[in-house]
Amino acid sequence: MRLASTSGRTPETTFSDALVRGLAPDGGLYAPVDLPRFAPATIDAWRGLPFGDVAAGLARAILAGEFPDEVIERLTRDALDFPVPTRILDDRLSVLELFHGPTLAFKDVGARFLARFFGWLAAERGDTATILVATSGDTGSAVARGFWNVPGIRVVVLYPAGKVSPFQEAQMATIGGNITAVRVPGVFDDCQRLVKTAFREPALARLGLSSANSINIGRLLPQSFYYVAATPAAAARSTDPITFVVPSGNLGNLTAGLLASRMAIPQARFVAACNANDVLPEYLDTGTYRSRPSVQTISNAMDVGDPSNFARLLAIAGDAAGMRPMIRGERVTDADTRAAIRDAWRAHGVVLDPHTAVGYRAAMRLLEAGREGPVVVLATAHPAKFADTVREELGFEPELPEAERDWRSRPLQAVDLPDTRLTSFVDLLKSLS
Ligand SMILES: *Cc1c(COP(=O)(O)O)cnc(C)c1O
Repeated sequence: MRLASTSGRTPETTFSDALVRGLAPDGGLYAPVDLPRFAPATIDAWRGLPFGDVAAGLARAILAGEFPDEVIERLTRDALDFPVPTRILDDRLSVLELFHGPTLAFKDVGARFLARFFGWLAAERGDTATILVATSGDTGSAVARGFWNVPGIRVVVLYPAGKVSPFQEAQMATIGGNITAVRVPGVFDDCQRLVKTAFREPALARLGLSSANSINIGRLLPQSFYYVAATPAAAARSTDPITFVVPSGNLGNLTAGLLASRMAIPQARFVAACNANDVLPEYLDTGTYRSRPSVQTISNAMDVGDPSNFARLLAIAGDAAGMRPMIRGERVTDADTRAAIRDAWRAHGVVLDPHTAVGYRAAMRLLEAGREGPVVVLATAHPAKFADTVREELGFEPELPEAERDWRSRPLQAVDLPDTRLTSFVDLLKSLS
């Protein structure tokens, strides 16, 4: 696979190089310029197979020649070893459950795949690396769990003390091993500033600092796999094109859908289901991109006012005129999101988290407007991660999966940063090595 920077000022490169670099040297994002095409018969033949099998088949074709086949197969299966089931609600509507990974949100897909390939590349070069992540909650836990036990890699995840939920804290700070959770006496912006300035700190050069942030192509690529994997079952129910409804924030998931469309499902249509942070729906309406400060909502992982994958979306789909035939934008208020949680429970007995509920509400609008063909809502988080909102609407709390129910009894192993000064953080990092 060859990739080009969205800024267009650096030479094309390989997947491995783009994965290790993260951001292109010219400041752009890497986007694929050649992707294999999969015939409908190939996709159909994968129907009913476990997600890991479909993913391994796709990864082998896409990454052929860059890694030994056996390595692609093994790393992909190891990363994506959890189910991605389709839950059928009625003859038109289904929900694709992306939340059965270890941190109960779809970000596990990207984080685990990136971690395995990053770790393998580092080992090949005989390198070790320290990955710094600043998080306001979900990304940090997915990255930390993704890299857990990956040889040669240490992860340092910074989170603001008292500003993440107790469950999120447990997901980051009880892992141990090669994962160090750092509790910062400040806000998320302090965590982010410490990470950014640490990269420029000469005293830390020997640690091989790296980031695994959401713009890494190694996180985006595997997210295209579940769109392909979900297609045969949906297509079997109708000959009309499938519509995927994607709860969207930074637009990574949506961009991955477009990659899947390029490779394997050219007829697919997409809905970018946004909360009050409606930069993309507005762009589709007006043709003008207007970034702005984010607005807080109950679907907070989608509170993004300047989505970082927008440049990639442009590179892949073209401008607003190019996007409109494929992508429709929808905005959903918090009140409608809450109503959707109640409606889905009443109509289908299904409990949705607030992010998925944004998608469900957008799907209802499509169906009411008479859209033909199967509609698949991507369920991006397990409802138990947002138990408070669910309780407020349904009067009960969804249960966590069995494996996570003991989270309160796992000992916290967070390291407390005494203050938010860079020197304190540098000392801490030095003491780890
Ligand atoms: C990150 C996230 C989203 C938004 O996905 P993007 O790829 O940033 O558009 C939606 N739902 C949940 C639960 C998330 O964690």
